[in-house]
Amino acid sequence: MAHALIIGGGVAGPVAAMALRRAGLDATVYEAVPAGAGPSGSFLTLFANGLAALRAIGADGPVRAVSCPADTVESYSETGRFLGRRPMSGSGEAGLSPRTVPRAVLCRVLREEAVRQGVRVEHGKRLVGLTTRSHGRMVASFADGTHAEGTLVIGADGIRSRVRALLDPAAPPPRHTGQFTVSGRTGPRAALGGAEPAPPRTYRMYYGRGGFFGCTTAPDGSTFWFANVPGPELSRAALAAATPDGWRRRLAEVFAADRTPAAAIVAATGDDVVGVNCYDLPSTPVWHDERAVLIGDAAHATAPNAAQGASLAIEDGVVLARCLRDLPGTARAFAGYERLRRERVERVVALSAALARRRPVTAEERRARDAEVERRLARPGHPVRDWLTGYRIDW
Ligand SMILES: Cc1cc2nc3c(=O)[nH]c(=O)nc-3n(C[C@H](O)[C@H](O)[C@H](O)COP(=O)(O)OP(=O)(O)OC[C@H]3O[C@@H](n4cnc5c(N)ncnc54)[C@H](O)[C@@H]3O)c2cc1C
Repeated sequence: MAHALIIGGGVAGPVAAMALRRAGLDATVYEAVPAGAGPSGSFLTLFANGLAALRAIGADGPVRAVSCPADTVESYSETGRFLGRRPMSGSGEAGLSPRTVPRAVLCRVLREEAVRQGVRVEHGKRLVGLTTRSHGRMVASFADGTHAEGTLVIGADGIRSRVRALLDPAAPPPRHTGQFTVSGRTGPRAALGGAEPAPPRTYRMYYGRGGFFGCTTAPDGSTFWFANVPGPELSRAALAAATPDGWRRRLAEVFAADRTPAAAIVAATGDDVVGVNCYDLPSTPVWHDERAVLIGDAAHATAPNAAQGASLAIEDGVVLARCLRDLPGTARAFAGYERLRRERVERVVALSAALARRRPVTAEERRARDAEVERRLARPGHPVRDWLTGYRIDW
């Protein structure tokens, strides 16, 4: 039986493993981080396209159980003026309303579901090298000195992918998108310093003067929030030294001049605050050779603005497994997978990068942007199923 060595147990890895088992292939996931390591911060939103792909492999239930839904998005200007509301993209289909979930929780439940479906997951296995044996089998070497052998390798090892570097040492490095993102979560029913929480199943978005702020309320009454702030790349040392209090103080300055609840919500948050530089990979030239292939962020990381990286990673895993099931030979399957995926994912990366670059600076530019948002939201019949979230995989 073909046996896939899947490098990375984040989002794409466990999904690919489950899909491969459905396709009749064996798979083991090798994750660098030891089992039970602490949460890696931040939360994300899965849209209908990602949720439908999970449903195709019977893995949507556990994700729905740990995430909170939203169907409506409301937008406000920096003065707190209501600009309009619309259904969230993809919210029209039963069971596919966008879901917000802490990233570490999503990865954990996907790994647990993969194990329940018969996948082996090994922790503390950081890939360092790949070699091909004369009879075509692949050997993965790990930092702990151990090895694993299989018939193919799937690089699901994220934006700093080791598999990508081994496939193509000249692959372009991640590009800084000119912003950092800070995300946080208040305690359940935390007092928000006079600000009212977003209504149930609603995202509130604020076009602030110095940055964009979004928030939603979880069923336990806590507020998930994020802030996208334009700025230069922060050094490793600056990120390592950053504390929740440092991020809170920084955002207090960013949102001080706005008449929105952003500053109060940030101030009401405890230590569950994390900030990161934002990067993307607009186009990775080499996605595969005959035995190894990239999926998820390893192939096409996107800026967080379109909130699609995890949904695309899930789509990749399912489409790749379908190609390995339906096409003869690994090389043909990898080529088929790239043909089906490259154009779509690069379009999403470009869309997200364009959103990250949109930064009206003067008051006049900001008013024009608000007027445009208002016009767009006032247009009747906003499509809840578009090219992005309407993507479905015929498994
Ligand atoms: C601030 C922020 C907000 C975001 N918001 C959203 C959102 O709202 N919606 C959305 O869809 N996406 C969002 N994303 C993007 C999303 O998190 C990623 O696109 C998604 O996690 C990609 O999944 P992946 O499995 O490809 O990579 P990852 O989730 O990064 O997983 C890679 C895994 O590989 C492991 N690994 C790395 N190197 C090795 C190695 N050498 N050997 C073994 N294992 C290794 C890592 O430990 C990790 O577990 C956001 C990203 C950021 C930074």
